Amino acid sequence: ELHYTPLDLIDTKLAVSSETFFERQKELSQAKNIRKTDLQFRSKQLKKLYYAIKKNEKNLIDAMYEDYHRAPQESMQLELIPLYNDILNMIKNLSKWMKPKRICDMSPTYMLGKTYVEKIAMGSTLVISPCNFPVLLALTPVANAIAAGNTVILKPSEMTPATAIEMERLIEEAGFPHGLLQVVQGAIPETTQLIRSKTLNMIFYTGSPNVGSIVAQEAAKNLIPCVLELGGKSPAFMTQKFNIKNNSKLRTAIKRIFFGAFSNGGQICVTPDYLMVHESIYDKVLEQAKIVLDEMYPTFNSDLDYTYVVGERAYNAIRKKVEASNGEKYIPESAKGFVTDVDKGLYCVPPTLISDCSWDDSLMEEENFGAVLPIYKYSDLDETLDMIIKKNDQPLVQYIFSDSEHERQHILTRLRSGDCIIGDTIIHVAIQDAPFGGIGKSGYGNYGGIYGFDAFTHERTVFKQPYWMDKMLFMRYPPYNKTKLKL
Ligand code: NAD
Repeated sequence: ELHYTPLDLIDTKLAVSSETFFERQKELSQAKNIRKTDLQFRSKQLKKLYYAIKKNEKNLIDAMYEDYHRAPQESMQLELIPLYNDILNMIKNLSKWMKPKRICDMSPTYMLGKTYVEKIAMGSTLVISPCNFPVLLALTPVANAIAAGNTVILKPSEMTPATAIEMERLIEEAGFPHGLLQVVQGAIPETTQLIRSKTLNMIFYTGSPNVGSIVAQEAAKNLIPCVLELGGKSPAFMTQKFNIKNNSKLRTAIKRIFFGAFSNGGQICVTPDYLMVHESIYDKVLEQAKIVLDEMYPTFNSDLDYTYVVGERAYNAIRKKVEASNGEKYIPESAKGFVTDVDKGLYCVPPTLISDCSWDDSLMEEENFGAVLPIYKYSDLDETLDMIIKKNDQPLVQYIFSDSEHERQHILTRLRSGDCIIGDTIIHVAIQDAPFGGIGKSGYGNYGGIYGFDAFTHERTVFKQPYWMDKMLFMRYPPYNKTKLKL
């Protein structure tokens, strides 16, 4: 059972986080070689985190299974492997990332001085994580925060309690220095208490746009900067210029779309939320989609292959939307007759294709966040883009299946998005050192390799000017006169 952190203890933890940061900086300032000492400290903490996760890998996979019937292979391939890669990449590159960057401005005022930009820690930071990737989206930003020299408080999702308990346990077991990394368990009251803190120096929030807005508003009251990693409706396009004569290529494209739409029970922020198919290829695409759906889920009742929905509320929401949809529904043959055992807390929505959807369909309103893929038949690409831009200006990501470079550029130019994949889905999130993040309502700020390090740092310009430069700079001081003006 998940015990929520008492509200007064949250205040203590916030104070400890802030004090620990200042104490550490004070101690560091007395070191002989400050940068080397700091690098060694941060690397050591990252290694502790890495080995603590490795050691508890099975416990984490079991906890996610307990929380929402998370398919173990998905926990490994979508969550733990990217997390290991992220932390190892941080350890490998930390020295390079921490190094101040020299700037050369050759104008007379600066050319004989020395300018560099150093990345300094933000201070006491807060990571609020969501339910759908309860480990990766909690511990990657936590590792980024530590790599960047901050103290950090983690508030895991209360919707995945077994995983939240396991993370807190492994963090305690790892033996971090006092106050460096603390966990606060809880839901709305606990998170509200955290985001109202005046002592925090930064918040990294991942979750829904509505809550993101609450977090940003609370943070703004104390001028606390935020990174917001939000969700939304990310479209996939299969256009007239996508050559479907090659059947094997078409099947590959469909598999990739299903991989993005149905993995993790469709609960992925970057999931292709709906598929737009040009009318000239629509029938063929739909015919193949039904075949591929059966092939990908031949034994639906198998206990370990398919991830369920996190919680009853999300389950009812997605079921209601599917029931209200006026499109035609397909589920794999193997899933027909399957009844999910809600009394045991098992909320399964089988992978569902919904064809012939219209713009006013229930599945077109908000992010679906479930294993449902509405398919829309379109005739005019620009009209379709107009509709999308009007409804959902800037999605987190867009997926394009088109063999024409010009058409791809056309779509990319019209539709701004956080990111884009051409020819695949969702896997861009794990590309090392590529920024991942939204634009507009899908969020702001980004992370991924060095971008994660940067997200938790401030870039400080340091300029050192020699005193003898006043031989040249005398003209900037009063008393002003005409000769100085000419210079
Ligand atoms: P959520 O917004 O319900 O919860 C996220 C976190 O916010 C949780 O820790 C929760 O305890 C806290 N919270 C909830 N309500 C709150 C409130 N009123 N005040 C303060 N804190 C509150 O999101 P979720 O259901 O856990 O996750 C799903 C959403 O997250 C989807 O919209 C998805 O697209 C998005 N998401 C985005 C990314 C990304 O990287 N962009 C990744 C994963 C999920």
